[in-house]
Amino acid sequence: MIEKIKKILAQVSDPEIPVLSLEDLGVIRNIAVNDDEIIVTITPTYSGCPAMEVMQQDIIKVLSKQGRKVGLPTKVTVITQLSPAWTTDWISEKGKQALLKYGIMPPSRKGTIMCPQCESKNVELLSQFGSTACKALYRCKDCLEPFDYFKCH
Ligand SMILES: [Zn+2]
Repeated sequence: MIEKIKKILAQVSDPEIPVLSLEDLGVIRNIAVNDDEIIVTITPTYSGCPAMEVMQQDIIKVLSKQGRKVGLPTKVTVITQLSPAWTTDWISEKGKQALLKYGIMPPSRKGTIMCPQCESKNVELLSQFGSTACKALYRCKDCLEPFDYFKCH
């Protein structure tokens, strides 16, 4: 039953980055089922990230709707677990590739930031805050394209 739930949850994506599933983002901590209820435990990426509210609603909506078709309990509860805190290390390799393809430089512990368009490392920081607080805005000095860098934390 957990496998069925995982399969459905794989369709729920980060509201800000549609190519990144919540699973690849690494926010899903645990999935449990009791008699008539599915309990999904998630760890928010950034506290106060407005996307988290949307994610919770999406999980409930998608699971209760699609789960019904495969005989899962339709009552879905999402629990938020704050500790241990989410880190960008929890983004899966698949997730990082998806980010790159989407034009966002994934978090890099080595601090190597390259342009997702042309892979040039000749880049400059334009702003510590990109389209959201979780990202910084960079520009490639070779192809001159601006791009977001998903900040490590
Ligand atoms: Zn470039």
